[in-house]
Amino acid sequence: MNEVTSIDRTQREYSAAVKQALARAPQLYINGEWVDSSGEATIDVEDPSSGKVVASIVEATDKDIDRAVAAARAAFDSGVWREMPPVAREKIMHRLADLIEAHADELAELEAIDVGKPKGMAAAVDVPGAANHIRYMAGWAGKINGETIAPYSLPGGMMFAYTLKEPVGVCAQIVPWNFPLLMACLKIGPALAAGCATILKPAEQTSLTALRLADLVHEAGVPPGVFNLVTGYGHTGGDRLVKHPDVDKVAFTGSTEIGKLINRNATETLKHVTLELGGKSPVVVMPDVNPAEAGPGVAGAIFFNSGQVCVAGSRLYAHKSVFDEVVEGMAATKDFWAPRPSLDPEAHMGPLVSKEQHERVLGYIEAGKRDGASVLMGGDAPASDGGYYVNPTILTDVNPQMSVVREEIFGPVVVAQRFEDLDEVVRDANNTQYGLAAGVWTKDASAIHKIASKLQAGTVWANCHAMIDVAIPFGGYKESGIGREQGREGVEAYMQTKSVIMKL
Ligand code: ADP
Repeated sequence: MNEVTSIDRTQREYSAAVKQALARAPQLYINGEWVDSSGEATIDVEDPSSGKVVASIVEATDKDIDRAVAAARAAFDSGVWREMPPVAREKIMHRLADLIEAHADELAELEAIDVGKPKGMAAAVDVPGAANHIRYMAGWAGKINGETIAPYSLPGGMMFAYTLKEPVGVCAQIVPWNFPLLMACLKIGPALAAGCATILKPAEQTSLTALRLADLVHEAGVPPGVFNLVTGYGHTGGDRLVKHPDVDKVAFTGSTEIGKLINRNATETLKHVTLELGGKSPVVVMPDVNPAEAGPGVAGAIFFNSGQVCVAGSRLYAHKSVFDEVVEGMAATKDFWAPRPSLDPEAHMGPLVSKEQHERVLGYIEAGKRDGASVLMGGDAPASDGGYYVNPTILTDVNPQMSVVREEIFGPVVVAQRFEDLDEVVRDANNTQYGLAAGVWTKDASAIHKIASKLQAGTVWANCHAMIDVAIPFGGYKESGIGREQGREGVEAYMQTKSVIMKL
């Protein structure tokens, strides 16, 4: 294995467009305009590739949150959006998708600076994915209808009954820091298509692309109050949104711990809740694979986005007959995944998002070592000038009691285990509180179907990983979530059914 000995981890110069975006005054987007906060507090925005503060955003006050909810409530109740002909709503949403595409380069760079992800990856995955979410959901605006229903227990000709599909109302949409723009669009797409009004709260670490998104929503022609953007902390602004009596639905993506808290808080006023939470996704490699293909594949399953992916393939189970070769194949990708600054054109993996995550992930690695795990690759932080880099890490000699095997690390750390028997590996794969996703690698198509039906996961991939498409439902089993996003189910989660029953 060749070592990459001298990577220059100095962050590159920002473009003029991005410098301008970073220099904007901290404001909130409420009721169709940029407004100052009622308070003075701001939050520093760091570039995790350098650890330097590059911008600041508003820390929304309770008053700001109430103002945003009031704007959304008034817009929803006025009917300006939900009663607009679906074709007009759809056109506005397509305009928004066009605008995202027109600003793709700037958005990719901003995302790279804010999250630490390679700009090339943001340009290939995050930005087109964001536009696709809006475009796909735009198509549902006019395509979901109720039905006429013949009563079951009443004589024919006496009654006429039908259902209406109506938007749920005012939505609070709270998103995490790993795919900020993509998550924002994944949330607002179905809400807008359904005719809801929304208040989006991006993560405090990564609000920059959401701020630009608000500019684009405005330019696309979404009426005032239908989309509102508040920035700030989760335990203050986010909490206020979740508990607000004028909010009808909470849609959250983030950790299982906060998801449970949000679910409890939203219960007080019986809000609709959808939750997309954590995972500890197993990847099962069967004995018939070509290790030269499977090795790099399962490496990508964990190292993509520095492992900061809810579906990261963080528990590898390779059959004992191919284990050594598969793990060698993973380790051979070490230089490819060597962490680099996000604006380095050669970067495939960047730093972690923050100092906190850096400490957390290195803490897990240390705990694994203390518990007796062996470090086959990585296991440490490379030299840098203040950035939050962690080397891609493979741990072996692990057991199911170790925290590195049980808990979601949310970093580039995989625990690799051998298996002999299929029933045993399915049991081990399912031996987790989580159930977001799972993977299986094999050439045997019938084995794929058998294993897929046994794995307790909302999504099962075969011979690939993290292939997510807006048309395909996505969500978690067990403690990985409630409800489904994307596809028809995704937009229906923003609607409720009304039955109308008439005596003739
Ligand atoms: P992570 O562990 O990925 O950092 P979190 O689950 O802590 O993610 O946060 C995801 C999102 O939830 C962020 O936008 C954060 O501000 C928000 N959040 C955190 N705590 C709360 C809370 N108590 N109520 C509402 N939102 C919250």
